[in-house]
Amino acid sequence: MSEAPSGDDPGGDLAERKMRFLFALRSRGVTEARVLTAMERVDRGLFVKGLFADRAYEDMPLPISCGQTISQPSVVGLMTQALNVQPRDVVLEVGTGSGYQAAILAHLARRVYTVDRHRRLVREAVELFQGLGLVNITAVARDGSFGWPEQAPFDRIIVTAAAEDPPGPLMAQLKPGGVMVVPVGQSDAVQSLIKVTRHETGFDYEELRPVRFVPLVEGIAAD
Ligand code: SAH
Repeated sequence: MSEAPSGDDPGGDLAERKMRFLFALRSRGVTEARVLTAMERVDRGLFVKGLFADRAYEDMPLPISCGQTISQPSVVGLMTQALNVQPRDVVLEVGTGSGYQAAILAHLARRVYTVDRHRRLVREAVELFQGLGLVNITAVARDGSFGWPEQAPFDRIIVTAAAEDPPGPLMAQLKPGGVMVVPVGQSDAVQSLIKVTRHETGFDYEELRPVRFVPLVEGIAAD
């Protein structure tokens, strides 16, 4: 499986780094075959640009444009796993960021709607989705704390920025039987990843694990 280091790959053996990446995911609890396959198909290296590009296959969050971060791969995997996406599902992601999480979801769901408050991040992510032929993702710049009522209801909602509480408009846009995964807590502290399941008569809440995300901020950003 290994290939000799070349001039194109000064940091070492790319194939081996990708294999270690998948191994790290498994060892941190990302064990579902469908999720691992989707993550194997999406090259994180394409979503990390500039200074940190050579760390793309390490299990750590990294800076992206607009002062935001691409999440830690094992957290992406665990959130995707908790979301339990089905092939016919329509998914909303709040917090497009680099587009990495949306690209993974696109391999698991029928359609992915993703929104970010930074137009630049959306623009860059759309270019990547087009290059990868991911035609089932629709990305727009908007304030995701209000969801996307025109496209609702959703089978699954994933929020990749921390809210103080699960946002009411998002809960309202979840189908009965639907699942939302959202980090909840103050932005400068450790937050809890919460799984919200909607039933015919109400909502169930399950606390999954501590996480640390950038805050969900209201309004569209200037850039
Ligand atoms: N899922 C991303 C990482 C997201 S980082 C990835 O895979 O790379 C969190 C993102 O949430 C940031 O890009 C930030 O701009 C966005 N965000 C914060 N508040 C928001 C809001 N109210 N509406 C939409 N996006 C928001």
